[in-house]
Amino acid sequence: MVVVPELPEVEALAAFLRERAVGHFVARIDVAAIHVLKTYDPAPTSLAGQQVTGAGRHGKFLDLDCDGLHLVVHLARAGWLHWREQLAPAPPKPGKGPIALRLHLDDGAGFDLTEAGTKKGLSVYIVTDPATVPGVARLGIDPLREDFTSEALAALTRSARQQLKGLLTDQTVIAGIGNAYSDEILHVARMSPFKPSAGITGDDLQVLYAAVRTTLADAVARSDGVAASDLKREKKTNLRVHARTGQPCRVCGDTVAEVSFADSSLQYCPTCQTGGKPLADRRMSRLLK
Ligand SMILES: [Zn+2]
Repeated sequence: MVVVPELPEVEALAAFLRERAVGHFVARIDVAAIHVLKTYDPAPTSLAGQQVTGAGRHGKFLDLDCDGLHLVVHLARAGWLHWREQLAPAPPKPGKGPIALRLHLDDGAGFDLTEAGTKKGLSVYIVTDPATVPGVARLGIDPLREDFTSEALAALTRSARQQLKGLLTDQTVIAGIGNAYSDEILHVARMSPFKPSAGITGDDLQVLYAAVRTTLADAVARSDGVAASDLKREKKTNLRVHARTGQPCRVCGDTVAEVSFADSSLQYCPTCQTGGKPLADRRMSRLLK
């Protein structure tokens, strides 16, 4: 299973950097894969000598604040941050291996941003204002923020033309939830991923709202204090339905099922979520028409 970083993992990486990197100065940045850099001005070299003053998150974007100069990272599907207490002093070889960028701190520690596989999505921006990053500017409400109330969610579902799975993973509506946590939230809420969002009102709305908040808050709490290298394992072991096709549902014992959705697939429990009925692969039926 590929563990794609979503809100709880990025939050945990930010918390780790606040603990470990804030207060230190950036010694150097090595860019080994130039295609990950989406901005050119300010240059990456301008980070050298800056003090790390904060680390945070915008949706699934990680934001390292270097005294007003922000290193904003979107890890995409296969990107990750590897922290090293003793970073190799030599720059990584361009075009060789998974390391895209290496950031050295003044104490010899630092991190590598890596990307596995051939589908490249890792993106790095160096900006004075994170809101100028297009993906950040488009983000919807953060589901862990105080103003994400059940009324706020009701307003979003009311005007939505998407199915629940689409609504939860649309970054311009709610920021930070991806394929894994949307599967988990819908299993907790006992709702079909294909249910039309506009139909979610009353008690259903309260159930969905509670599922969003508790699923994400629990994942963040579990990740708190977990080392960056262990975050993926932590996520994997606690999943209820996501990436568990063919395995028993932890609630009812039914077999977790899978169906195509958008450019990926989703997992759900028929007994818990769809009244025992398997979901039809709509993408396939559309192709056959
Ligand atoms: Zn079940």
